[in-house]
Amino acid sequence: MPDDPPPLIPPSVFDSSRLRPGMVAAVSGIYRVHHYRHRIPHIVFIEAGAVLPPCKRCGDVVEFAPLIAATALQVDDDFYTEMPTAT
Ligand SMILES: [Zn+2]
Repeated sequence: MPDDPPPLIPPSVFDSSRLRPGMVAAVSGIYRVHHYRHRIPHIVFIEAGAVLPPCKRCGDVVEFAPLIAATALQVDDDFYTEMPTAT
């Protein structure tokens, strides 16, 4: 098994190293989830600041790999948070 690369620290960089349950997602975006033996990898959206949960089936062995940083539409300043009223 190859060694994991050393962790990249600056939070502004989208670090692609895998995260484990109990760690905090530093960046909102698309993550690939790697389970242990019961499910093929799949894709989820995780918001920055979320504490990554353990899996109900493989527990703390599950890993989250950041793929693409993305902003939640609700916090993007260019968009209305409610439909503008027609005047
Ligand atoms: Zn699992």
